[in-house]
Amino acid sequence: MWYPGHVQKAKRQIKENIKKIDAVIIVLDARAPVATVSFELDIFKSKRKLFVLNKSDLSDEGYNEIWKSEISKTFPVFLHSKHTKRAELVDFVSRNVPPDSRVCVVGVPNVGKSTIINKIVGRHKVQTGAQPGITRGVQWVKIENFTLMDSPGILYAEIFVKEISAKLLLVGCLPFEQVPDDIYELAYEIYREASGDVAALHEKLEEFGRKRGLLRKGGVVDFERSKQLFFKELSEGRFGRFTYDREPELFWKVVERSHNI
Ligand code: GDP
Repeated sequence: MWYPGHVQKAKRQIKENIKKIDAVIIVLDARAPVATVSFELDIFKSKRKLFVLNKSDLSDEGYNEIWKSEISKTFPVFLHSKHTKRAELVDFVSRNVPPDSRVCVVGVPNVGKSTIINKIVGRHKVQTGAQPGITRGVQWVKIENFTLMDSPGILYAEIFVKEISAKLLLVGCLPFEQVPDDIYELAYEIYREASGDVAALHEKLEEFGRKRGLLRKGGVVDFERSKQLFFKELSEGRFGRFTYDREPELFWKVVERSHNI
């Protein structure tokens, strides 16, 4: 919906690389496992699938356990956070792929794919090679009993209901400037339900904007800037830990819709 050009390119790149891959690590946001799994898993048919529930330091602890046990009924799943040690993550992958597997990390934008790759590889930056003049194929890095593709596979969500966009917005997986107002409004309602915050959206942005000095001439709050900064900080966990997807049945509906697992 928001990325037509990129979607085509991403799909093409993944298709080109898919033949070389034995297993995929699908990174989801632990706050919104349904919204962040809403893409065509079909392209990974016949590949081994491992799930990482990422940013679990920003999601509700009770729901982390619920989601972990739910997804583990069918797939290997790992709760990852910024506190997770490299050895635990590497061990999870090693234990769950056949020896000598070629593995890649996939997920929607901003879900934490590069963070996961960097932790597994044990360095700080994925080199992108995006500068003009640098052409570079995919690199493979040998890790214990598997080999990791060092560039992430970017997947774009299929937004078939507005709730998916709203939840992607809440977890920072959509570009804040391009999201229409009705999605912001829906996202705020979902946040209110998860957090128990009673303030109405307008009231919230007025208060937040004033506190941050996001004012226009005449001292009125700049609502556009206030809205974008509020949602950015919310997605970074600055106002607490919340889980927005709370229905495991929906996860399986989305996964089974087009996906032969
Ligand atoms: P990518 O676009 O999927 O490759 O996502 P990145 O790896 O670039 O991560 C996006 C943002 O999420 C960055 O600001 C990371 O620092 C942050 N991030 C990634 N993993 C975690 C995590 O487990 N916890 C928290 N709090 N932030 C994370």
